[in-house]
Amino acid sequence: MKGARIIVQKYGGTSVADTERIKNVARRIAESRERGDHVVVVISALGDTTDRLIKLAHSISERPREREMDMLLATGEQVSVALLSMAMHELGYEAISFTGAQVGIVTDSSHTKAKILDVKVGRILEELDKGSVVIVAGFQGVSLDDQITTLGRGGSDTTAVALAAALGAGVCEIYTDVDGVYTADPRLVPEARKLPRVTYEEMLEMAATGARVLQLRSVEFARNYGVVIHVRSSFSGEEGTWIVGDEERMEKAIISGVTHDVSEAKVTIFDVPDRPGVAAGLFQALAAENINVDMIIQNVSEDQKTAISFTVSKEDLRKAEEITRKMAEKLQAGGVSVDQSIAKVSLVGAGMRTHPGVAADMFAALAESGINIEMISTSTIKISCVIRAEDAKKAVRAIHKKFGLERGVVMRA
Ligand code: ASP
Ligand code: MG
Repeated sequence: MKGARIIVQKYGGTSVADTERIKNVARRIAESRERGDHVVVVISALGDTTDRLIKLAHSISERPREREMDMLLATGEQVSVALLSMAMHELGYEAISFTGAQVGIVTDSSHTKAKILDVKVGRILEELDKGSVVIVAGFQGVSLDDQITTLGRGGSDTTAVALAAALGAGVCEIYTDVDGVYTADPRLVPEARKLPRVTYEEMLEMAATGARVLQLRSVEFARNYGVVIHVRSSFSGEEGTWIVGDEERMEKAIISGVTHDVSEAKVTIFDVPDRPGVAAGLFQALAAENINVDMIIQNVSEDQKTAISFTVSKEDLRKAEEITRKMAEKLQAGGVSVDQSIAKVSLVGAGMRTHPGVAADMFAALAESGINIEMISTSTIKISCVIRAEDAKKAVRAIHKKFGLERGVVMRA
């Protein structure tokens, strides 16, 4: 393609919430074209379209079939790509819009959370060669048996990164309503700082624990294929946050950020017989229904009986509760309870691998604020605590302060 660089740009729902914003996005794309880059654009549905479509479905059916949900939700992005393409034409640029199926974003068949298996780039390259801006509907694909699928909420990020990987793009720019990745949610912690660089590993943990800038799967994809991501604002020209491999980050902070998540619920099964196979049976049943379990705690047993608690996304709660109740009956367990008022606060940082005492300091920050910890889980670069939902804000602030994140405590590796 005559030496020009390909860049992939993704614009989220808020960046295309109304016609003025769509025109603004079109102008930004035009600027990139003027610099000589080939541009592939991925966009989300306008504003809160996806939320509205989900409500609409639920006003007809309590549990709509997932295949039909995908048929419905995929329409949102089809609207936005067509409108953006028209806006490009108005500015005098060649542009063409495509659905996921049209460009060949091939997925498995797990409706509403499909995984990308293959991305065909032939059609896109053809259009780029003609000088067109290619605009692809985010969040959707087509399964091997020709069904329309969607990639889970926030899936447009994954579409963009997958396209960047398949096209060998120089960078995948994610334009959003925040101007980067912060040490904490700035709405909760006004002194939070924008991070110039974050490693894939850190971003994975941050996305998994509630940072909502990027869909988790998009970061996995970026790490696996070495796609450089630049998260930035669609409303300003400022540099945002670069997400890169470990080797490209020179300065290593011990801690990158504090995240929180109130989208999970806790399920507890009481008085289960404490014998081999019980946990395996329960979690196999949940996995068979495609339910992701996050944290798990099993208590010390008394009288050969124990309690097991685990957290799942509230979206999966109904299914998870059903399965657990069935299991409780089968095992003659004491009962099942569900708690929707929990929050998970997490501390993430590559440097904690080599710095003991980080967990203790985090627990101390919570204790000093009078916050009780209900569950704990750790990985090499993350510590998460489940607490009461109403304490989330206080907890994030206390931890942020304890580690001096507003001052940017940086350590040279
Ligand atoms: N429109 C979809 C959603 O709201 C996908 C996306 O925005 O990335 O989740
Ligand atoms: Mg999004």
